[in-house]
Amino acid sequence: MENIEQKLISRINEHAAPIRIMHVCGTHERTISKYAIRDIISKDVQLLSGPGCPVCVTPAEDIDFAISLAKSGKVIASFGDMMRVPGTRGSLFDARSDGYDIRMVYSIDDAVKIAKDNPTLDIVFFGIGFETTAPANAAALLREVPENFSMLTSHKLMPPAMEILTEDTIVDGFLAPGHVSTIIGTYPYNSVSERGFPIVVTGFEVLDVLLGIAMVQNQIESGRSCVENAYSRCVNVEGNLKAQEMMYLVFKKIDSKWRGIGMIEKSGLALKKEFEQFDAVNVYADIYEKAQHEKKVSDIDNNQNEMWEGCICAEILTARAQPAQCPLFGKRCSPKNPVGPCMVSLEGTCYNWYKYTHNK
Ligand code: SF4
Repeated sequence: MENIEQKLISRINEHAAPIRIMHVCGTHERTISKYAIRDIISKDVQLLSGPGCPVCVTPAEDIDFAISLAKSGKVIASFGDMMRVPGTRGSLFDARSDGYDIRMVYSIDDAVKIAKDNPTLDIVFFGIGFETTAPANAAALLREVPENFSMLTSHKLMPPAMEILTEDTIVDGFLAPGHVSTIIGTYPYNSVSERGFPIVVTGFEVLDVLLGIAMVQNQIESGRSCVENAYSRCVNVEGNLKAQEMMYLVFKKIDSKWRGIGMIEKSGLALKKEFEQFDAVNVYADIYEKAQHEKKVSDIDNNQNEMWEGCICAEILTARAQPAQCPLFGKRCSPKNPVGPCMVSLEGTCYNWYKYTHNK
């Protein structure tokens, strides 16, 4: 007797017609790569990997600013994978090897604790991530935060990026990210589906991903494009209202630069004026201006996608190429020695392809 997974695979394969479904979530890529979902469904149903890895889309200029702060004597508190992503002049990890004080933390609370325990030091927390992490960072700033703490904010919002992808990428439908959707709900994707793109909010088990694929396929077959929810055990229409409230008490939407993609309207978060005493760009405006100036005059080692020569992460992040098409993949670039951001994190497409498909 067929189990549910086999039934879904049969359903997907029996109804297979050439379609391209994009996910925008590093955890989806991990499930797809780890369980070889691309190999068990029809080749006609292409699964594309979009910009779902937070450290991959963090602009190099933000990394450069964090390094400049460290070189000016500030303590940088960063997530571990962010430390390994190269900016235009090396990574935070390189800067730590050069002797600067850069500490790995698991949350903003760890960074606040460092600040409280070390009142003579200036601590800058590198706040990155999508709607999933922004509420926790907002909550921390709404609690008591010491004066020697500030935050370099580089949060991104997913729905505006999906809208841009519908313009630039050949895609027929989306698997929307489960984690982000627990916070924002399903309704913010309406603006994407109204452009004619089926969207299914999808969880992270193999069964979830197969169900999401079958539901996108079903919408395409029946000529519909709407937002459906295949992750209703965690996601509802309106999302986590408390988390959204905290997020927008502290942050405001801004136009934001995504590494490998460029500026996207209203796709990022910045601290509101009421919290400017914690905004590293405001507190250390002189260092920020200097870092911006240095970036302008050092474009020789940079390009508009902020990728090193030979690295095609910009194409990977927009599904215009796959990791195996990169000449550096598995040669000069590996998880041990990442050349581009997509090879650094557990959520990076190149990382997952290397870990689960390379040499197999
Ligand atoms: Fe960039 Fe490495 Fe991926 Fe190539 S394999 S696109 S160099 S991260």
